[in-house]
Amino acid sequence: MEWNEETIARLRALWAEGHSTAEIGRRMNVSKNAVVGKAHRLNLPARPSPIRRDVEGAATRPPAPRRVTGPTLPPLPQREAPVQAVAPRPAPAPRAEAPAARPVPVRPSTYRPQRLVTCCWPIGEPGTKSFRFCDADATTGKPYCSEHASLAYVKVRDRRDEAAA
Ligand SMILES: [Zn+2]
Repeated sequence: MEWNEETIARLRALWAEGHSTAEIGRRMNVSKNAVVGKAHRLNLPARPSPIRRDVEGAATRPPAPRRVTGPTLPPLPQREAPVQAVAPRPAPAPRAEAPAARPVPVRPSTYRPQRLVTCCWPIGEPGTKSFRFCDADATTGKPYCSEHASLAYVKVRDRRDEAAA
């Protein structure tokens, strides 16, 4: 088949109607490649017809990126989730310093008075239920009450005397 005004006019007509190159070739009894080549040489405009999209896979791919954006959207929140999870992590860091700093002032105020004002003199056999500490008010600057402090420091003197003797 030769391209002449009649066949070219029919090609333009079918092309303008939006038929696929294969369909045009079938109707004009020419190969699809002949239609494509001739249409290219004629600088025929791209056909906006939906038929072209259905036949030519390349035309259907523009919507594909839209589908890609769909699946990619869920990962975005997932990526944001770790970021949000990371964000709270810096917060515990300052908190870790806070509890460490709080006990420091608390311990001196709570432990010192107890050790200073409570007598640590052991009463009873250690390891038994009856064993306890004196718990009486201790002499200022000593871990025992006045009574047990005298006993404790007397014992120290006795031991020193024994060691000296
Ligand atoms: Zn005591």
